[in-house]
Amino acid sequence: MPEHPDVASSYLTQTSAANTDPDLLEWFLAHGLCRVAVEGDVTGEIVEVIAPPVLLLGRGTHDVRACPSPDRLGYPEKHLAAMSLDDYHIFLLRYLTRAVEAGACQCFVCRQPVSNDEPAHPWDGIFIDKELVCWLIIHFDCKRGLAREFKGYHPFELAALPPVPYDVSRD
Ligand SMILES: [Zn+2]
Repeated sequence: MPEHPDVASSYLTQTSAANTDPDLLEWFLAHGLCRVAVEGDVTGEIVEVIAPPVLLLGRGTHDVRACPSPDRLGYPEKHLAAMSLDDYHIFLLRYLTRAVEAGACQCFVCRQPVSNDEPAHPWDGIFIDKELVCWLIIHFDCKRGLAREFKGYHPFELAALPPVPYDVSRD
């Protein structure tokens, strides 16, 4: 039996999928990184709703971003079609480094801004493949608090905004 129709959450999820580049969405599906739910839509019709992985650049609703497409951003190292998950992770670390340089990131645990400025407070981009598949930014020193802070995040309750097109042409 399908769950009770939840139009609001399926709308949120469709936003995330719509803001993910179609090729990237296919690639995520092929790599088993999307979550799929069966829901009723407005007309009562049963639809499959796909929740692709997202970026969590902080804790605000505007910090939830769709994942960027390396092809769309002109990433020179490798095309998406030739990428393994490790390759995509490497691409994303470059992307996240640009996001940190732009001052667009907060630590997922302590919620303080993440930067490369002195005094050094090193950070990492972490890939999480659980009920919610995502990449998030966290200080090295804050990793112990991650499991506690991550509770309650659900893939079908997030609406990811389009990714900011950072320059990933150089390391
Ligand atoms: Zn922190």
